[in-house]
Amino acid sequence: MVPVIALVGRPNVGKSTLFNRLTRSRDAIVGDIPGLTRDRQYGTAKWQGRDYILIDTGGISGDEEGIDAKMAEQSLLAIEEADIVFFLVDARDGLCPADEHIAAHLRKRDKRTLLLVNKTDNLDVEVARAEFSPLAVAETLGVSAAHGRGIQQLMESALAGVEPEPEEEFEIELIEGEDPVRIPGPSEQDGIKIAIIGRPNVGKSTLVNRILGEERVVVYDQPGTTRDSIYIPFEREERKYTLIDTAGVRRRGRIHEDVEKFSVVKTLQAIKDANVVIFVVDAREGIVEHDLSLLGFALEAGKALVMAVNKWDGMQPSERDYVKTELERRLYFVGFADIHFISALHGTGVGHLYRSVEQAFTAAITRWPTNKLTNILLGAVQEHQPPMINGRRIKLRYAHMGGANPPLIIIHGNQTGAVPKGYVRYLENTYRRVLNLVGTPIRIEFKGGD
Ligand code: GDP
Ligand code: GDP
Repeated sequence: MVPVIALVGRPNVGKSTLFNRLTRSRDAIVGDIPGLTRDRQYGTAKWQGRDYILIDTGGISGDEEGIDAKMAEQSLLAIEEADIVFFLVDARDGLCPADEHIAAHLRKRDKRTLLLVNKTDNLDVEVARAEFSPLAVAETLGVSAAHGRGIQQLMESALAGVEPEPEEEFEIELIEGEDPVRIPGPSEQDGIKIAIIGRPNVGKSTLVNRILGEERVVVYDQPGTTRDSIYIPFEREERKYTLIDTAGVRRRGRIHEDVEKFSVVKTLQAIKDANVVIFVVDAREGIVEHDLSLLGFALEAGKALVMAVNKWDGMQPSERDYVKTELERRLYFVGFADIHFISALHGTGVGHLYRSVEQAFTAAITRWPTNKLTNILLGAVQEHQPPMINGRRIKLRYAHMGGANPPLIIIHGNQTGAVPKGYVRYLENTYRRVLNLVGTPIRIEFKGGD
C-alpha cells in the first residue's frame, strides 16, 4: 500500500508551502476537494521511485470555534488516515501553546511523527530545534519549506523503510513480426482488478451490490480484509475479476468507525492498485469539481478507464439528450474511454460494463510490434509532416513500445524536443485509431535531439 503522509500544525507554519514543494505544484493533479473534505487537500507524489500520498490540512490552533473547529476536526481526521505525520512548527515564532496542544494529541495516537522545525532559513538549526524539545518528539528536523532546505533528508528518513516500486521489467522493446503480444501478467490469475471510483452518493455501493448480486456472478470468500478497501474476487462467464470496493459495502465488521464512509486516501490507493477504473458519475447532478479532481488522479495514474453515468432511470428523453451533450462536452479529456449510461438501482446497462472493462484492459497491456508502430508513424508523417524548426524539418524515424499499462510508445528521430503539442496529439490520435486503443491513456516519448 502507498504510504500516506499528513501535514499538520498551526495555521501559517508553512504546510501548504511544503505540500506544493513535495507535489511540485502539479496543480492539475492535486486534488483540492472542497466541501467534501473541507480544508484538506490531497496530492500524490514520488520520491526516488517511492510513491506516497500527501494530505495537507487547514491547521489546528487549539482554541477553535465555529469554522475553525471544523477545520481542526478535519486535521484530526487526516491524522487518522495517515501512516506518518509531519508535524510542522515555526522556528521564527518559537514554541506556542497550540504546538503543545497538537503534540499532546499526537502522543495519544500511535503514529510515527516527524517534528519539522520550519523557516530555519537564516537561523541556527540546532538552536531552533532545541527550542522545541519540550514537545518531546523523538525525530526532529530543521527545514525550510520555502527554500527546500532539509527536504532531502526529511524524505529520506520518512520513507526509509518503504521499498521503491519495482519498475516493471520491459525487455521486449523491439518486438518482431506482425502480431501484437499479450504478456500474461499477474492479472491472468487474479483476473482484472476493477476499482469502482466516484464521489459520495453517485451510487458506488449500489453498483457494487448490483454486480455481486447478479445471477451469473460467483463471488469467492475474500481472503482477509485490509485496513483500506476490500478486495472481492468473483467470476463471470468463466472470466476472473477482483472488485476493489472503496465504498466498504462488504466490510465485515466496522474497523474505523471514525473515518468517513468516503475516503480520498482509499480512493487514491484503489486507483493505484486497479487495472481498470470504473468511474461513476451522477447523471442528475452532472460533472462537478470533485468528479474532475478524482478523474485527474485516475488519469495521472495512467489507468484504463470506463465511465459509468449512473441514475439514468426515470429521466425524460429531453433531459437525457441535454445530459448527454453536456457530459460529452465536459468529459472531452477522457474521450478515449467508453461511456455507459446505467442504472445501478435497476441493473440496466450494468452487464455491458464488462465488455468495456475487457477491451480497456486489453488495450492497456498489449505490446505492439516495432514494425507496426513504425509503419503507423511513417504513414502519419507522410500524411501530415511535422513542422520545420530553424529551417530544418523535424524527422521522426521509427517507433517501439517502451512499456504497457498504460502503453508507452517511444519515437526516435531528430529535433524531437521541438515536436509541438498539437503534433503529439495528432500522433496519439493516429495510434489510437489504427490500433483501436479504446479505454486506455497512451503515453508518447521522444528520443533523439539535435
Ligand atoms: P500553512 O497555513 O501552514 O499552510 O502555511 P503556508 O504554507 O501558507 O505559509 C505561511 C507563510 O509562511 C507564507 O507566507 C509562506 O511563504 C511562509 N513560509 C513557509 N515556509 C517558509 C520557510 O521555510 N521560510 C520562510 N521564511 N517563510 C516560509
Ligand atoms: P455511494 O456513496 O457512491 O456508494 O452511493 P450509494 O450507492 O450509497 O447511492 C446513493 C443514493 O443514490 C442512494 O439513495 C441510492 O439508492 C441512489 N442510487 C444509486 N444508484 C441509483 C440509480 O441507478 N438510480 C437511482 N434513481 N438512484 C440510485
